[in-house]
Amino acid sequence: MTTSPNAGLIGRDGARQKLLTPSLLVDCETLDANLARMQAICEAAGVALRPHGKAHKCSMLARRQIEAGAVGICVATPGEAEAFANAGVGDLLLTSTFASPQAIERVVRICAGGVRLCCVVDHPDVVERIAAAARAKGITVPLLVDLDMGRKRAGVRGPDEAVLLARRILETAGVTMDGLQAYAGHLSHCVSYGERKAGAAEAVARIRAVIEALASELDYTPERVTGGSTGAFPLELAGGVYTEMQCGSYALMDTEYAAVDADGSGEPMFPPSLFVATSVTSANHPGLATADAGEKRLATKYGVPPRIARGAPDGATYRATSDEHGQITLPEGVSLSPGNLLELVVPHCDPTVNLYDHMHVVSGNRLIDIWPIDARGA
Ligand code: PLP
Ligand code: MN
Repeated sequence: MTTSPNAGLIGRDGARQKLLTPSLLVDCETLDANLARMQAICEAAGVALRPHGKAHKCSMLARRQIEAGAVGICVATPGEAEAFANAGVGDLLLTSTFASPQAIERVVRICAGGVRLCCVVDHPDVVERIAAAARAKGITVPLLVDLDMGRKRAGVRGPDEAVLLARRILETAGVTMDGLQAYAGHLSHCVSYGERKAGAAEAVARIRAVIEALASELDYTPERVTGGSTGAFPLELAGGVYTEMQCGSYALMDTEYAAVDADGSGEPMFPPSLFVATSVTSANHPGLATADAGEKRLATKYGVPPRIARGAPDGATYRATSDEHGQITLPEGVSLSPGNLLELVVPHCDPTVNLYDHMHVVSGNRLIDIWPIDARGA
């Protein structure tokens, strides 16, 4: 990873306005407040917090979450697991199923290096392959049975399959049975609180049915039931079955999540701490200006545009219109000039961080640190 071209600005007042654009900024105070709020809510519910690292891909931020009280970090890919493990994060959960010999080899190698890396499984053949690779290295790999909560992406389909797979894990040397993953991703961006509430109740019922089957068929009680998202966690916590929350986006936030009031208050619970600094490059047409953050700098999932947080008057809008450029539409009578600086709330934080090498940590107008996005591309 290269050093940031803004490295010389660390410690300087006014550096926030001097960064080479486009750059990724994280507002330190807002970030810390978001971390503290989620931590406090989970602690009050008696549930562990294991934030999802795919939302930031940054081991420095992961460490800050652990310092704030998180038990460890979730990762989405073996590559993210490797990046965080290399950076000294010692307790990881890989929340995606994997099956290729290369992925299994990589995961078992990370475990053999002394990191506690728990994995999720949804097929007995994969249990067998992970266990064989673990035995060959003289280690055991902790596993969770992954439950499909309705998206048909991964996971066993219900209590019967969960019992079969749990039995296989319990009977196989080289792996241990740690519990269940039940990530209800379909609820995370469900804008209607009523629908989200009904969906969370249904999800909790699904999980309870699996827990009851494991108890009656195997006399087994899962130590850990992990899942949860920034959009649905208050409802998921209220269900009383989870022991661990995996929320990720709450730390940085984005415009797609700004539409979701997790607690039903009508407002998002967490303000954005992540911004893209961009500057105007051309402004020769009335009502329009062009800036230097395009599709290569702003990722979206639902097509929601970025929001201009600073640098343009109310009513101005931003759209990434081409690879390297965005178009600003201005209200009547307002203009911008080349060199004007804007800060944007990003549409979707997880894939947006993956477009940058560094996060520039700012406190007010001061640049206090630069964190490598070290799991980028992994
Ligand atoms: N857990 C899993 C398995 C996920 O895939 C995700 C995100 O997609 C999360 C947790 C975190 O969700 P969010 O960023 O919506 O809080
Ligand atoms: Mn996301």
